[in-house]
Amino acid sequence: MPSRRKNKRNADINQIEPILEPKRSGKIKTSEPNKEALLEVFAVQKKENTCVDDLKVKVAKDTKGVPSKRKKKIGGEENKIQKEMRESIGKKVLDSVKKSKKLLGVHASAAGGLEQAIFNARAEGCQSFALFLRNQRRWDSKPLEEEVVVNWWKAIKETQFPLERVVPHGSYLMNPGSYDEQTLTKTRVAMLEECQRAEKLGITLYNFHPGSSVGKCTTEECIARCAETIDYVVERTENVIMVVETMAGQGNTIGGKFEELRDIIDKVKNKDRIGVCIDTCHIFAAGYDIRKKESYDDTMRKFGEIVGFEYLKAIHLNDSKADLGSHLDRHENIGKGKLKEETFSHFMNDTRLDGIPMILETPEGMYPEEMILLYELDNN
Ligand SMILES: [Zn+2]
Ligand SMILES: [Zn+2]
Repeated sequence: MPSRRKNKRNADINQIEPILEPKRSGKIKTSEPNKEALLEVFAVQKKENTCVDDLKVKVAKDTKGVPSKRKKKIGGEENKIQKEMRESIGKKVLDSVKKSKKLLGVHASAAGGLEQAIFNARAEGCQSFALFLRNQRRWDSKPLEEEVVVNWWKAIKETQFPLERVVPHGSYLMNPGSYDEQTLTKTRVAMLEECQRAEKLGITLYNFHPGSSVGKCTTEECIARCAETIDYVVERTENVIMVVETMAGQGNTIGGKFEELRDIIDKVKNKDRIGVCIDTCHIFAAGYDIRKKESYDDTMRKFGEIVGFEYLKAIHLNDSKADLGSHLDRHENIGKGKLKEETFSHFMNDTRLDGIPMILETPEGMYPEEMILLYELDNN
């Protein structure tokens, strides 16, 4: 096995503090939140936050917000509802963090502009978040407008949200390991464009699915192509770390085995620019048991030996509707699926996961409640 240089952990775990409001002069108002408006937000979220297996729906909703010329620009500001949520629900979530060093967050909607994802994440008390950087239904996209970039940086300045805790999710159209030259080229162009966007926004991580052989080539060939795709993007960008996600092993997809992720890492030229994301639902469906402390320890030991914790850059916390080894990617709310709360207590109490963005991709807009529940499971 070629030697792998360790890449640096993004955050100094001793410096982790809940993201609180930037200091303002004068008193902070403690007005009662507008309950009707909040209920409305939750109703919208319930509709928007479909299970990730229902990707087409989610993607369609989510990209509604990617700015187009037809849309009236909001101008990079927090709206009234976001402010009320931040001061009520968001505050409750942050209060529940206590001494936890876990950075919980959600997949935030960018409806109304990319910077709106920052405000939406903060409204829910997130300490990390994921978002789509562009229209997920299309291969082509216009270059990032200057106004979008300006609004993003304005929001970052205002919220002081740490950019290393933002983990954009790549388009689901892409297949970085495709046997088909046309698909492969389209994927590489799209992935490069998304990573260039990330860099313009100061984002340092980029999460994506490793792809599928579609039964037209061997797993080894698919892995080799995926690694070449990563090299292609890395050679044309400055610093974004390419974060490959663990998959459920459905059909011909790669990434369902830790060994496959290791093989991708081994083939990639620049080991400083490659990382992995553990998705709890995916690894369980792929056959890695994590329900009891013993099986969790065993699975994480395997991960450490085969992949290495130095490559772990993000976690997706999802319960699973489907059984162990089912190879089905079906997300469920925390504690409501086959994994149950106990599984998540293992993750929440594992100090190796301190300072790593842990993002929920669960259905039905229960994000704040789920984050509070998770923080309660942390015994630190
Ligand atoms: Zn995931
Ligand atoms: Zn999934």
